[in-house]
Amino acid sequence: MHNITDSVAADSLLLKDPPLLDGAHAQTPEQLLTALNGIVAGLTEAESTTRRLRWGDNQLPVTPPTPAWRRWLRQFHNLFIYVLLISATISLVLQHWVDTGVILAVILVNAAIGYVQEGKAEAALRAIMSLSKSLSMVVRNGAGFSIDSSQLVPGDVVMLQAGDKVPADLRLIECKELRCDEALLTGESQSAAKTTATLPPETLLAERRNMAYMGTLVTQGTARGLVINTGIRTEIGAINQLVQLVKTTATPLQLQLGKLAQQLTIAILVLTIATMAFGILVRDYTLAQMFQAAIGIAVAAIPEGLPAIVTIALALGVGRMAAEHALVRRLPAVEVLGSVDVICTDKTGTLTANAMTARQLVTTNNHYLISGEGYEPRGNFRRKGERQPIALEALGEDPQLVHACRIALVCNDANLTHDNNRWQLHGDPTEGALHVMALKSGLTNKQSKQQWPRLDELPFESEKRYMAVLHRFDNSTGDNLGNDAQAMAVKGAPDRLLELCQWQLGESGNEPLDKAYWHQQLTDLAAQGMRVLALACKTHPDDQPSLTHKHMHEGLVMVALAGLSDPPRPEAIAAIDACHSAGIRVMMITGDNPVTAAAIGKELGLNAKRVMTGAELDLLSPADFSQIAETVDIFARTSPANKLQLVEALQTRHHTVAMTGDGVNDAPALRTADIGIAMGMKGTDAAREASAFVLTDDNFATIEQAVAEGRTIYDNIVKSIAFILPTDLAEASIIILAILFGWMLPITPAQILWVNTITAVTLALALVFERSEANIMARPPRQRHQGLITAALLYRILLVGGLGAATVFVLFRWKLDQGASIEQARAIAVNALVIFECFYLLTARTFYDSIWHPRYWQGIGPSLLAIIVVVIFQLLFTYLPLSQTIFAVAGISLEDWLIIALATSPIVLLVETEKVVARRMQARRQIATQGKRYAQL
Ligand code: ATP
Repeated sequence: MHNITDSVAADSLLLKDPPLLDGAHAQTPEQLLTALNGIVAGLTEAESTTRRLRWGDNQLPVTPPTPAWRRWLRQFHNLFIYVLLISATISLVLQHWVDTGVILAVILVNAAIGYVQEGKAEAALRAIMSLSKSLSMVVRNGAGFSIDSSQLVPGDVVMLQAGDKVPADLRLIECKELRCDEALLTGESQSAAKTTATLPPETLLAERRNMAYMGTLVTQGTARGLVINTGIRTEIGAINQLVQLVKTTATPLQLQLGKLAQQLTIAILVLTIATMAFGILVRDYTLAQMFQAAIGIAVAAIPEGLPAIVTIALALGVGRMAAEHALVRRLPAVEVLGSVDVICTDKTGTLTANAMTARQLVTTNNHYLISGEGYEPRGNFRRKGERQPIALEALGEDPQLVHACRIALVCNDANLTHDNNRWQLHGDPTEGALHVMALKSGLTNKQSKQQWPRLDELPFESEKRYMAVLHRFDNSTGDNLGNDAQAMAVKGAPDRLLELCQWQLGESGNEPLDKAYWHQQLTDLAAQGMRVLALACKTHPDDQPSLTHKHMHEGLVMVALAGLSDPPRPEAIAAIDACHSAGIRVMMITGDNPVTAAAIGKELGLNAKRVMTGAELDLLSPADFSQIAETVDIFARTSPANKLQLVEALQTRHHTVAMTGDGVNDAPALRTADIGIAMGMKGTDAAREASAFVLTDDNFATIEQAVAEGRTIYDNIVKSIAFILPTDLAEASIIILAILFGWMLPITPAQILWVNTITAVTLALALVFERSEANIMARPPRQRHQGLITAALLYRILLVGGLGAATVFVLFRWKLDQGASIEQARAIAVNALVIFECFYLLTARTFYDSIWHPRYWQGIGPSLLAIIVVVIFQLLFTYLPLSQTIFAVAGISLEDWLIIALATSPIVLLVETEKVVARRMQARRQIATQGKRYAQL
């Protein structure tokens, strides 16, 4: 790597990050390979490392975080804060120094908490971005390896297939029906067809058909491309447009809360003005006194902590989900999780382990069992019914077996490596299993490449369900293919290939296909839960150097069926059970065979009474389709279009649907579902782009955990609201009631401001750290369009607000009647209000879990800490001389504290009684859900 890099190194002194190579579209692949010192067989590992050191990682710079000052200022851009600022200004004008100071403190404390927490949220989202790595298939020493796309260097040769996100700027050197969606760069919504032909230098970017650009999506076909530019030097790097992984739009709940906040603020302002007018006109207070009271009411009633609490609850939840392998790409989806009542999932890899091993091979005349584990190519073949395995040397005596293994090896893109005593698969597990099976028969990769080099291919597409390769073919191996020097090797879904085959490979050559025999074998293998692949072949005329789907139609010869075991994941069985208890229906929508799907479905505990295939779905009327979508839980041999139709049918029936997908064609279904979930490992980049979530472990159990987490986040937000609104009501109504009835104020406006400052942000904040309740996955999903303020919440607001205010009045009067000073009586009133809130916090931590249960005390840390902090502040407030002067209070006795505790604690009993009722109602609902489920199974 001398010529080109050296000249550009000189340029880069003038230009920051110039492209390494400009005008690649106008050069031939050979010229470029020479310029980049590359070869079609790819770079060596050592060379790639040297280049990475020189040119850096293939990454775009991450957008810089919001500057601190802007984040700080943003905290003040909020309706609540505007009202508070106006209140502070009025207090200042009235020369009420204490009030002004306390209001300013509320504003600052609130802003500081918002600032710190928002920073944490941003950092969490950023961390998630860096977790989501994309992989590329790169050619090294002639073979394909999947590597982290950030490791690509100029000169690498990359393989592309449908669904891939192009990992760097590439000059295409081989292309098969490649189309790319380049809307990101060119704004063109139609995908662009690609070729390898060299273009004139003046060709515009949008028309450079021989280039594939970083960040664009492959919608169809396959290709090999030479990496020309990486990272910041790519076209997308030049326009510096980073496709944000996490879209930070406001969530429905945030919008709903924003609206609620506005309505509350208006209501509070009206109430405050009305109280002021009443106080002046009816109770003869002065304007200055009423201003002070009004400010107290407004500040107390405004739930200024709410917006920050929702943001924090969401950010914490998103972080926890990432730790559990669910990456959130669209924040609003987190809230929807709690309402999901149907999960439509793939089978392979999500419900099953996707650790495939070929266990059985059925040819026209024999049935073999294959030993060995995982991807280690060690094991042998044994005829069914015989005890001894067949010796490797003797395998050649069975041409059907040898032939099947050759097809399995030739028609295959998987690659195995052996590092650190571990066999590692690069590529698709189905192909990996067949590759390993072929190696067990004594064939080698090298032999395959030398004797049967690939000339052309039809890549696997889930609609066609087969893959075919055209390869040269050395007739000295003595098989029955005839005299042509080219042959096709095909593998695919058996039902599909049985439609296409006319022959089968018999002991003495091709014989007519015995469809009944093969169908029987297929059913037997599938009924054992195996994934079955058919292996077929055909000679190919020498004068036709390429392959089309038409070639599949004449004279295809069936050679064997391979049975691959892919056991259900044990954790998926438990997760499906948990979903059922949570009132969530689990539907399996797979591309696999219906018999395999039913067998695996049954093992997983799904409703396997009836299995529908995509072909059957296609024949249904819309009404029947909708009915089937409601009642059948297993769908097999489905197309991406079937998936989309199922989501739509379920949504019309008012279900909230989560749908998993991995293929490029799954994108419409993923986008339409209420929650699209892409597979991080096996999924295509196209599926990821279309999804709200990405599962980094492809595991169904992770979806169940994410649903539980989503429910917890929503619970915690509602718990915070159920804490803030009633306590604010209690604080504000104390002043309002006193003015209305002409009573002496038990708590002065300045003292109310103090209470609000120390409790609003400390106590309520503790609730967003709450863990899931015991029954989180035993309750039915939340109604999707249920409003924020339900009847139960309204009851809670009035109960707690009313009781809090009443307790304060009663204690205040009692203390005065005992002959205490007004300062002492007010100290009692203020402390009663705060201790009341502390007791309420203790019990409001859960909606269902009882305070008398040991489980309740686990995870109480944050609430306890908040209470301790608040109590310390109250002691300072009550006994510190400075505070006594500022707030006009006097110290109280230990006996007073005990009376306060006695008088304020009954709130715990009241809320606990409410929980008993809630638990009973929930148990009744649960029995109904279980009953429905057992009726189905
Ligand atoms: P799921 O939708 O649950 O992930 P799936 O992986 O079986 O199921 P597809 O990937 O669409 O769905 O595969 C459909 C069928 O195509 C498989 O059952 C198999 O018979 C066949 N098949 C899968 N992979 C290949 C491949 N690499 N080459 C040839 N045929 C394949």
